[in-house]
Amino acid sequence: MADNQEDELERFMEGVKRRNPGEPEFHQAVHEVAMDIVPYIADKPIYKELMILERMTEPDRIISFRVTWEDDQGNIRVNRGYRVQQNNSIGPYKGGIRFHPSVTQSVLKFLAFEQTFKNSLTGLPMGGGKGGSDFNPKGKSDREVMRFCQAFMTELHRHIGPDTDVPAGDIGVGAREVGYMFGQYKRLVNRFEGVLTGKGLEFGGSRIRTEATGYGTVYMMEDMLTHHKESIDGKICVVSGSGNVATYCAKKLMELGGKVVTLSDSSGFVYDKDGLTLEKLEWVMDLKEKRRGRIEEFAREFGTEFHEGERPWGVPCNLAFPCATQNEIELADAEKLVANNVRGIAEGANMPTTPEAIKLIQKKRDLLHAPSKAANAGGVGVSGLEMSQNSLRLQWSAGEVDVRLREIIKGIHDQCVEFGRQSDGHIDYFKGANVAGFNKVAKAMIAYGVM
Ligand code: NDP
Repeated sequence: MADNQEDELERFMEGVKRRNPGEPEFHQAVHEVAMDIVPYIADKPIYKELMILERMTEPDRIISFRVTWEDDQGNIRVNRGYRVQQNNSIGPYKGGIRFHPSVTQSVLKFLAFEQTFKNSLTGLPMGGGKGGSDFNPKGKSDREVMRFCQAFMTELHRHIGPDTDVPAGDIGVGAREVGYMFGQYKRLVNRFEGVLTGKGLEFGGSRIRTEATGYGTVYMMEDMLTHHKESIDGKICVVSGSGNVATYCAKKLMELGGKVVTLSDSSGFVYDKDGLTLEKLEWVMDLKEKRRGRIEEFAREFGTEFHEGERPWGVPCNLAFPCATQNEIELADAEKLVANNVRGIAEGANMPTTPEAIKLIQKKRDLLHAPSKAANAGGVGVSGLEMSQNSLRLQWSAGEVDVRLREIIKGIHDQCVEFGRQSDGHIDYFKGANVAGFNKVAKAMIAYGVM
């Protein structure tokens, strides 16, 4: 980056920090995008004149509300709920809902900002949004989760709609929570409409939606490897997390001949040197979705190693798939991955790599690194397909949806190659995804004039 562009980036980021004090995750997400967009728009005066990047960093609106519910002992509990409606230039706001004690306005603003670019990359008409609450579903009974979801939707319902804002799941929000929230929405508005995605198959859900994010992450890796005439077959794979994205990422890797040797949760990781089998993976899915237990139990059940309080990035591997949460690959973790000569990283989780770690990884020109906005766009891609199916009042077969998902990811890979190719032929996937995602939203904003 030229010196004057470095200065411009710094000035821009100072403004972002001044307007959004105490929001480090949001600053990080904006910086990751601005690093590529500031140089890209340097010779395109219209973007600067119309302050497109500045406008993109300001959410259209943020709704914050009280969620009051009653626990099983009859105590009144109070949480805070949010919906960040970031940008609806290319379609209704679209993005998941996260229930986790770490949820703050900063976290949701970073996710909504990222989502806007990701949704643009899918090629489908979806704007960006994100919501959630600091509610912790862990240790809560099923009825408590139901009462919380109903209370959350009692306020949220007035701000969303199939043509306005269509939430989905994220950390802590799976099929069970989507069911409770959709039920409450339907009761309040007395309409059966596609206002949430990730619904059950019996009430308007799409086939392959549950699998889509993890599958998409693997498809993105497959496309990067194919581009370099390689494949997943025979590669040793390290996966973090053991939730929705991680388990379906592991499943697809195994289908394509990869050997998955780790899974994790917030208490540590398991290292299965023999590699997961479908049977073991199904055991994990049952553990996490039904019994709601800890990954350590896997080590006891199958006699593998458990590394308490650690992340799996030091395990020797060819491919790495961070699928748990933000900033889970720090500089020291990236050093281990680089030292182990890892060939590829595909980000299933949102913003899992810290800026210092990205910098180190990018220096290693033979390490393929797909950013989350490209590598985990399969989830929202199939959510977009769920919206289409709801509008058509149809339900496509698993095969049909999977073919479309594969096309969406291929389209994203192609855009990354088009906009991320460097003069020496190297593909900068971060730059490619940022520029391609930005372009479509920016053009729509310009078409609307100043607003
Ligand atoms: P789940 O709630 O199903 O699983 C989350 C997993 O990550 C769990 O294993 C959890 O462990 C672990 N985890 C969560 N927080 C931490 C933490 N602070 N440190 C270590 N481990 C942690 O969520 P998803 O699989 O849906 O989401 C995972 C990531 O993928 C998130 O970044 C999400 O935003 C992203 N994503 C999800 C999409 C989807 O369709 N679901 C779409 C696109 C992105 P524990 O149980 O101990 O908390």
